[in-house]
Amino acid sequence: MHCILCLSTALSPYHQDTKRAYWQCANCELVTVEPDFWLTPDAERAEYDKHENSLEDVGYLKFLARAYQPVLNLVTAPAKGLDFGCGPAPALAHHLNQQGYDVSYFDKFYFPDTATLEQTFDFITCTEVIEHLSTPRAVLTLFQQQTNPGGIWVIMTKRVISLDAFRNWHYKNDPTHIAFYSDATFDWIAQHFKMTIIERQKDVVVLKDSTR
Ligand SMILES: [Zn+2]
Ligand SMILES: [Zn+2]
Repeated sequence: MHCILCLSTALSPYHQDTKRAYWQCANCELVTVEPDFWLTPDAERAEYDKHENSLEDVGYLKFLARAYQPVLNLVTAPAKGLDFGCGPAPALAHHLNQQGYDVSYFDKFYFPDTATLEQTFDFITCTEVIEHLSTPRAVLTLFQQQTNPGGIWVIMTKRVISLDAFRNWHYKNDPTHIAFYSDATFDWIAQHFKMTIIERQKDVVVLKDSTR
């Protein structure tokens, strides 16, 4: 078994609850669910279909504000963006497009047109997605390839604080959540993908391309 993010084989048991076993990577500190407990794609999709967010849902937009506010602050419209893993309703892209941005969206289950991913972007948003991915390394590599010089990534996911907090964390109980990132994991991501972390807020990390 190896780490799905950094490929290290230095994984050790982290926690076990009544449903699943969790491992932690000694290199990037990613905590992952043992693959035996991952849902099949069909079962995963069925979970997402249970809670569809609509374009007009005020609570959902407020929640997404934590992701679109950094874009409004850091990127001047018009600029090209990608919302990766938008879910059944592309609310974030819709909202940013109303503000003059040109945002495309992709979702493995709901908007699977991979032609979208062949463009390059000034910013990429990824909200509550990365914790669902069994291939975060491939997805972040794609982001790196599709990011224009000086572009930014806005990644929203709840972060691991400590084992104590993890034990009682509702976030780990979602059966579609299989990977849990900490500040140290984001440090590894920044270094590996040649990004600089420019903001670390509650549940949101903003990284900026620092290659050129
Ligand atoms: Zn790792
Ligand atoms: Zn999630």
